[in-house]
Amino acid sequence: MEEKERIDALYAKNVFTVAKMKERLPKSVFKNVLGVMKNGGDLSLSDADVMAKAMKDWAMENGATHYTHWFQPLTGITAEKHDAFVGMPDEEGRMVTTFTGKDLIKGEPDASSFPSGGLRSTFEARGYTAWDVTSPAFLKEAGTGVTLCIPTAFYSYKGEALDKKTPLLRSMEALNRQALRIVRLFGDTQSTRVTSSTGAEQEYFLVDAKEYLQRTDLIFTGRTLFGAPAPKGQEMEDHYFGVIRERVGEFMKDLNAELWKLGVPAKTQHNEVAPGQHELAPVFEESNLATDHNQLIMETMKRVAEHHGLRVLLHEKPFAGVNGSGKHNNWSLTTDTGVNLLDPGETPERNIRFLLVLSCIVKAVDTHADLLRQSASDVGNDLRLGANEAPPAIVSMFLGEQLDDVVRQLVETGIADRHIKGGVLKTGVSTLPDIRKDATDRNRTSPFAFTGNKFEFRMVGSSDSMATSTTTLNAIVAEAFSDAADELEGAQDFDMAVHDLIKKNLTEHQRIIFEGNGYSKEWVEEAARRGLPNIPSTIEAVPSLTTDKAVKLFEKFGIFTKTELESRSEIIYENYAKTKNIEALTMIDMAQKQILPACMKFAGEQAETIRAAAEAGAVFHTQTKLLQKTVGLIDSAQDALDQLEHLVEEAQKIGDAREQAFFYKDTVDPAMAELRKPCDVLETVVDKKEWPFPTYEDMLFEL
Ligand code: ADP
Ligand code: MG
Repeated sequence: MEEKERIDALYAKNVFTVAKMKERLPKSVFKNVLGVMKNGGDLSLSDADVMAKAMKDWAMENGATHYTHWFQPLTGITAEKHDAFVGMPDEEGRMVTTFTGKDLIKGEPDASSFPSGGLRSTFEARGYTAWDVTSPAFLKEAGTGVTLCIPTAFYSYKGEALDKKTPLLRSMEALNRQALRIVRLFGDTQSTRVTSSTGAEQEYFLVDAKEYLQRTDLIFTGRTLFGAPAPKGQEMEDHYFGVIRERVGEFMKDLNAELWKLGVPAKTQHNEVAPGQHELAPVFEESNLATDHNQLIMETMKRVAEHHGLRVLLHEKPFAGVNGSGKHNNWSLTTDTGVNLLDPGETPERNIRFLLVLSCIVKAVDTHADLLRQSASDVGNDLRLGANEAPPAIVSMFLGEQLDDVVRQLVETGIADRHIKGGVLKTGVSTLPDIRKDATDRNRTSPFAFTGNKFEFRMVGSSDSMATSTTTLNAIVAEAFSDAADELEGAQDFDMAVHDLIKKNLTEHQRIIFEGNGYSKEWVEEAARRGLPNIPSTIEAVPSLTTDKAVKLFEKFGIFTKTELESRSEIIYENYAKTKNIEALTMIDMAQKQILPACMKFAGEQAETIRAAAEAGAVFHTQTKLLQKTVGLIDSAQDALDQLEHLVEEAQKIGDAREQAFFYKDTVDPAMAELRKPCDVLETVVDKKEWPFPTYEDMLFEL
C-alpha cells in the first residue's frame, strides 16, 4: 500500500514533470518545450504531437483512460470534460488510441453554459481552452478512473478571457516587465524574469457526512442557515493548534498523500481557532502554479473527505457565531536569479531597492485599496470580513514596528538615520537607516501585513480562487513599478532621485499604513478620517472594477479590457442574486417542511399533556408557559416565512442584475434573518429528540 511509500517517491508521481519530459522526449523537442515554458511563445504542431504522444504513453502506463482540458471558468471552481483515448478501431478490430498535439494544445468546449457576463452572445457559443505550458499536466485519480488533466486557459472566440487563469497569466507578465525595469535600475543585468509567488493557507471545516446529509442548507448552500449556538464555543481557546483527533488525522494523512502525488507541496496542518476547523498550507510556488494547486487542494479535500465519511466545508462562514474561514495570500516577488525583492538585503543597493519596492507597494495598495478589497469579495466573505474575527472590510497595511519607524522618519524629516533595533543590514547612504530583517512582529488584525520577506493578504475568502486577488495585486504593483521606472530611468543623480521617490511615495500614501488593532471600532472611525474606503459588501465593491482609474490600470497592462471588466461586474451581481435566492428558498423549505412541523408536533404533545393533567385535576404551570412560548415563536416564524416567500417572488420580477442583487441584500437578507431568529429559539425550546436535523453541538464537537 501507498502508506509505506517514501514521501519523496510519492511526490509528483502523478505529474508529468520536467524530469519525466526529459526522460521521454527527444532532446530537441524537450529543449523547445522548456523554452516555451520559460519564455512563452508557441510550440510547433510537430513538437506538440511528440509531446502529446509522450504524455499519452505515460498516462496510459499509469492507468489513464481519459484526458481533459482542466480550466477555471468564472464559477470559481474548475471544469473538465473527459474524452477517452479511444479512436477508430483498426481493421482487425483492435483499439487505436489517439491524443494528438492539437488535442493537447487546444480544446473547444461549448462555452454557452459558463458565466460570461454577456461576453459571449448565444449564437457564438464557442469557447476555447489553450494549454498553459507553465503548469504541468497531471493524473487525477477519482471515481471515474484515472484522467490526464491538462491545465488550460479558457477564452472566447474573440479572445476575451472567460476564466480566472488568463488574467492571472497576463498580470504575471505585466509585473515581470515592470519589475525587470526596477531591478535593472540597480544594476541587475542577469535576471531575465521576475515572478510573483503565492503561498495559500487554506482554512476549512470538517463535519460528519451523516450529519451533513441531513442538513439541506449545507447541501445546497455550503453553510448553515439555522442553528442555535452550542453551549460551548471557541472561548476556551482549546482547539487552535490542539492535538489532532484520530479521525481527522487519518483524513489529513490521506489528503497529504494524494496532494503529494499531484505535486502539491502540502506542508503544514493544524487545528484552527474554531471547533471543527483546520488549516492546510503548502510551500509557496509561482502564483500560476500555486493557484492551480490551491484548486487541487480544495478539490482533493472534498474527495478524500468522502472516503472518510466526512464532508469538507469551504464556505467562508458555515456556522454563525463561530469563526469563519479565510485563505491567506502570501505574496512575494522573485527574480530568476533567486532574489526575493521583498527581502531586505545585505548590501546597500539591495536595501535601497527594498525600500523603493516597499514604497511602490504602499503606493499601489493605497491607490487601489478599493480594487484590492473587491478582489477578496464574495457572497460568503461578506459574512466574515469586519466581523471581529477576520480583517475588516477596510484595506490597510501593517509594516511592523521597525519598518514603520523607518517610514515615519523618512516622511517627517526626509532622513531616517536611526533604528529601533540593532541593525545588521547596511544601506550605505547616510540618509537611510540599516534595516534588520524582522519577521517576528505580527499583527493578526491587519488585512495586508508585511511578514519579513512577503506580504500576507488576509482578506481572501476560503472558497475563492487565488487567481483574483493575485491578479489585482500583480496589476497594481506593476503600475507603481512602471511609474517609478518612468521617473528613475532618466534621472541625472540616481541616488538622490531614488531617495526622493521613496520619500514621495511614502509621504503621499502613508495613510494606508496602520499598525494598531484592525478589529477595533476606533479604527473604523480613524480610517474614515483618513479617507480610506470602507466597502461593506461584495456588490458594493463591484463599481471599483470599472472606475476610470481601474480601467486605465487594467487596459494599460493588457490584463482586462473595459468590456471584460464590465462582464465580470455583471457576473458578480448575477451570482450574488442567485446565491441569495438559493439560500432564501432553502430556508423556506427547511422552515416549512422540517422546523414548523416538528415544532407543531411538540406543541401538540405539550397541549395534550396539559389537557390530560387538567383532567386529572392538576395544573401544569411550567408546561403551560412553555406551550405559550412555543406557540408564540411558531407564529413569529410563520409570519417571517410568509414575508420571505413574498419577497423572493418580488425579487424574481426584477430584471436588472444590479438592482436585483441589491434587493436581495437590502430586503431579502434581513427577512432571512427574521425567519432565523424565532427558529433558533425554537431549537432551544423543543425536545432535542424532535429537532429535525443535527445541531451545531452535534456537528462541531463530534469529530
Ligand atoms: P503563518 O505563520 O502565517 O502560518 P508561514 O510562515 O507558515 O505563515 O507561511 C505561510 C505561507 O506563506 C506558506 O504557504 C509559505 O510557504 C508561504 N511563504 C513563505 N515565504 C513566502 C514567500 N517568500 N513568498 C510567498 N509565500 C511565502
Ligand atoms: Mg498566515
